[in-house]
Amino acid sequence: MKNMVRTLGATLSFLLATTSGAALAGGWTMGGGKLRKDGENPWWVKNTKDVNVCVDIDEANFGITRARAEQLVTNQLNWWKRQFASTSSDPDVGVGTQNFHLRPCDESTDLRIQFGVLTPKQQKAWPTFGADKPNSYMGIAVRTDYDTVNMRGKGFIYLSPQLGPLKLEVDTNRGQAERPWSYANGAAAGIVLAHELGHVFGYGHDSGLGIMAPVLIHFLSLRETLSTLEENTTYTNIFKFETGSVGRCYSANEFADGRRFFGLPQGPVCLAASMNRSELQLYLTQNDGNKWKLHATGTLNTGNDSEILGSGLVYLPKDQTVIPVMQSDIFRGLPGPLREFGSVELRTIDGTLTRQLAIEVDPSANLVLTGSLDGRVLRNILESAGSNNAGHEFTNSRRQSQAKQKSDVMNFLRNLKTGR
Ligand SMILES: [Zn+2]
Repeated sequence: MKNMVRTLGATLSFLLATTSGAALAGGWTMGGGKLRKDGENPWWVKNTKDVNVCVDIDEANFGITRARAEQLVTNQLNWWKRQFASTSSDPDVGVGTQNFHLRPCDESTDLRIQFGVLTPKQQKAWPTFGADKPNSYMGIAVRTDYDTVNMRGKGFIYLSPQLGPLKLEVDTNRGQAERPWSYANGAAAGIVLAHELGHVFGYGHDSGLGIMAPVLIHFLSLRETLSTLEENTTYTNIFKFETGSVGRCYSANEFADGRRFFGLPQGPVCLAASMNRSELQLYLTQNDGNKWKLHATGTLNTGNDSEILGSGLVYLPKDQTVIPVMQSDIFRGLPGPLREFGSVELRTIDGTLTRQLAIEVDPSANLVLTGSLDGRVLRNILESAGSNNAGHEFTNSRRQSQAKQKSDVMNFLRNLKTGR
């Protein structure tokens, strides 16, 4: 067990320590400026055509059935394959092009996916790679072998069980669920799995709210998030489109185009767009007692439109024989995180107006609405003019810290009073 691919738990415990204000709590964590080598490479590139995957599960302690676990594995592998198929990924690298075969675990296994199971060998080796204890990880991807000539890795993904001796450590007083996998038949396990598979495919962490964001895992441990999951929740519709929520306030002389576009009244208004799994909702407040009203609503059509932004890197080991190289090549590109597209037909509640909108959600879960009016394209309509302070009642927006939310609400109320 030479290479631990990620230390998600370290990031998590850092978050917990800082939010509790106990600055001196917790062990050492490292940022590192170490030269990048193959430690973060995808486990398979173009020369690997077939990958054997197996599932090992302690059904009783993990909390879902083997059949469900296998379904989650298949779904998430297919999801990643679709992402790679929809991009112009470097054909020399060929990440995510493999055929994945779900088979019983044996010597030929390339990737073991272990739901609440650690072999005695893994338990013994765990401390040697310096990570936190297994029970502090909701999930972790560990590469145990890497063949630098063929650029081929082997390893396992481990998800902690919710019961038994390996039980995941949670703090129920801080909103974490006692049994996270019992919500929506283990839907959260599917999303954690998608994140860990991202590491297997060569992605590091990103700072937004996309699938590779460490905070995503933390949110998935919370009762509040878990209670919104449904059995068929996929990563795409919960952590891209659902996270979107933006709002702006506009003074009486601002936002002329936007007012016409959305059919808004005169005077100071605040507008907020909120997206759930299948719907875009537009809320409006006026300077009249400060109550949000549903103004318009529309059904989302997210389709499969997405674009992977180039940003990852594959390190080329000196002795590799897979990828043709120029003399000084050290890296090849890996497609980066996703930008997703969708559309919606928005209808005002009073039925007077219907508008077509294009929607983009970028890797940091920023929501951009674009429409057209009188033959002109209005890009990022909500943000085109006005101040960013419609935090009111959207305080559960996952993008904002509590302090930021509070100051947004305060600003919003202040602006209302001064009739800004
Ligand atoms: Zn991670």
